[in-house]
Amino acid sequence: MPHAAPPDPSSTPIQPHLGRSSPNSLPHLSSSSSSSSSSSNAPMAPHGALFLVLGYLPLRELLAFQRVCRLLRDAIADDALLWRHITVEPPLSAKLTDEALLRITSKAEGKLKSLALVDCWNITDAGLLRVVEQNPAITKLYVPGCTFLTADGMVKVVKQLFECKGNLNHLQLRGLSNIRKDHLDIFNSFLGKNNLQQVSQPSFYNSRHLISFDCDDGRPIDVDLCPKCRNVRLVFDCTRESCRTMKYKRIECRGCFFCIARCEACGGCIDFDELDEETACSHILCLECWLQLPKCNTCNRPYCDGHASSLAESAWSSSGFICHQCAELD
Ligand SMILES: [Zn+2]
Ligand SMILES: [Zn+2]
Ligand SMILES: [Zn+2]
Ligand SMILES: [Zn+2]
Ligand SMILES: [Zn+2]
Repeated sequence: MPHAAPPDPSSTPIQPHLGRSSPNSLPHLSSSSSSSSSSSNAPMAPHGALFLVLGYLPLRELLAFQRVCRLLRDAIADDALLWRHITVEPPLSAKLTDEALLRITSKAEGKLKSLALVDCWNITDAGLLRVVEQNPAITKLYVPGCTFLTADGMVKVVKQLFECKGNLNHLQLRGLSNIRKDHLDIFNSFLGKNNLQQVSQPSFYNSRHLISFDCDDGRPIDVDLCPKCRNVRLVFDCTRESCRTMKYKRIECRGCFFCIARCEACGGCIDFDELDEETACSHILCLECWLQLPKCNTCNRPYCDGHASSLAESAWSSSGFICHQCAELD
């Protein structure tokens, strides 16, 4: 049997594979490829079509699949292709340690192409550096909300990928604190080599912008220098037609969320002189969006789309909905 350790039945999704096994079990995992599913007395190998499906599963489900049976566990662990694009999102993020990350990424056998760590608070600069040292082929690296990472640490990470002739061409850093302009210049210079058409694509505010490798907006780095406050943050262009068509307004209306308030629904700038309509959530909406969205039956305030979709089904009726606050007063 290639695996001496029995499958761990613990209910936490990430720790069974990652947290508990000793580092020594790693080579064990990767060296089992030749013998696991092909030995003569082994049960039938999983159907090839299964691997097509597995390729589409989020990490959490892939790890869960591995716990179905030993055969699947070995087959999945041995298929480096399944591990070339790794996205760690909540709720897994909070459990991800440096060791666990190294263990997951090792399954790609050095061929990891994209790594997205969303809100992985425990990942350190040193931990991420070890991962990129083992995976020089990473082209997309997303670390939004990884608050333990530092700008200096990310410079080392990006430099490492650059020096081993990698082809890193996308970097997402939002939420990383203390990024200064000099950091940004370094990131741009390392990525610039890989982005011949240095992009000046507009970037629009979309609060529900999901972290996905498919929603690539063509920009090599998500953060930019805010022309108003000079901080390195997400910087948005205005979606409002009048702001986009006039050049001086287009420049004037570009800024981070703190410098230019944006409508939660359309991403257009907010004219505070016109703004007197309230929402049922904490977000602000432009007048046009405010008028269009359905309102609470009691207080006549709308929710932004994001909050509306999170409203319990019981709050809706055929005639509309009752907002949280009005429901509590009832
Ligand atoms: Zn700003
Ligand atoms: Zn709007
Ligand atoms: Zn505007
Ligand atoms: Zn209400
Ligand atoms: Zn809202």
